[in-house]
Amino acid sequence: MISESEARAKILEAVRPLPSRKMPVLHAQNRFAAADYFARLPLPAFDNSAMDGYAVVASNCKKGARLRVAGEQPAGVDRKLRVLNGETVRIFTGAPIPDGADAVVMQEDVTREGDPTSQTYGAAGEIIVNVEVAPGDFVRRRGCDLGEGQKILSAGDRITAAISALLVSQGVDDVAIGGEARAAIISTGDELARPRTKLQPGQIYDSNSILLHGLLNRAGAEIASTERCSDNPDSLRKAFQTAAKNEIVVVTGGVSVGEHDLVQQTLRDLGVKIEIWRVAIKPGKPFVFGRLDNALVFGLPGNPVSAFVTFLQFVRPAILKMMGAQDLGLQRISARLTVDLNNDGDRAHYFRGKFDGGSFTPIGRQESHALFGLSQSNALLRLASGENRKSGDLVQVELW
Ligand code: AMP
Ligand code: MG
Repeated sequence: MISESEARAKILEAVRPLPSRKMPVLHAQNRFAAADYFARLPLPAFDNSAMDGYAVVASNCKKGARLRVAGEQPAGVDRKLRVLNGETVRIFTGAPIPDGADAVVMQEDVTREGDPTSQTYGAAGEIIVNVEVAPGDFVRRRGCDLGEGQKILSAGDRITAAISALLVSQGVDDVAIGGEARAAIISTGDELARPRTKLQPGQIYDSNSILLHGLLNRAGAEIASTERCSDNPDSLRKAFQTAAKNEIVVVTGGVSVGEHDLVQQTLRDLGVKIEIWRVAIKPGKPFVFGRLDNALVFGLPGNPVSAFVTFLQFVRPAILKMMGAQDLGLQRISARLTVDLNNDGDRAHYFRGKFDGGSFTPIGRQESHALFGLSQSNALLRLASGENRKSGDLVQVELW
């Protein structure tokens, strides 16, 4: 049995990042940048109004000032207007600030004089300014958000919705991203019934396939195939041979050493050297890792919670590294523990529970088959062997 960190290090050492390529920003969402990106344009790109109102020269605009409306500056064109003393220009949010002006007075803060039924009302006639005005009021200065040349994205960062928007704001059409890992799922066990069929006595529905489907999807992998195998060496061998065309093979069930556990032997028969067998982690001790041709093969225990935890701790980081991610861990956050928790065992224990924004409470049965408890939880708390925590302690939990 090896430690969790040794196992992870060994797996990550076996991972080769996939070649990068360019993709339209839209399709690059959720993938990882393969290069650093820098601002080509400042944001905002030009001085513009933060409000619908009137562009003024602040020094000539005391409270009570009466100004002649000399023109209108909408968003989308630059009419190259100029604001002279005693004048103002009607302006709208996002419109370029006319020359000479250095502030905008909100339309709510002026009294408009003229005919409110006229088409040009607000863009002609006069206004009286009802507030104090200071230079810079409601002006969004060129470059105040982002300066030209500033770094906007680092290689290995995930391209989130906001980052993709930023790239597009810069006129970037195609972005370099890391490769896409393709994964095959194999679930094994004579007891497994296909969802939507009638259960026979002793059968259970194969729920791990869909669990892994969701987890792989979330990690960003493309799911190439899903195969359900009975505990039969021939069908297992065939399933592995097909699955090995992908970068990742995730198999659940049958990884132990009982008479019906055929995964390890089948892999050996196919020439795989089992590089990891058994990790000091609870749940998830019967974990297997090896390489079949160019595929990384992860053998996860059949118990759903064990499969879940070992996926997040071993498979997910491998996929992320393959796809060019910088940060391979789950998001960590401080939480106040609401109960006493002990780990008297000889393996690191991952408790499943609910993080409610401030505290962490273990949920349901903490056993490896307890799928309901897992379904109600959103966080993992890891206690090392021998680590004991009291209610009220501040701990770090991992979110998925
Ligand atoms: P195994 O790892 O094959 O010894 O299986 C351990 C436990 O997980 C057994 O109770 C299995 O019935 C259960 N199990 C195995 N595969 C699945 C699956 N695909 N979906 C749900 N439970 C499973
Ligand atoms: Mg089995």
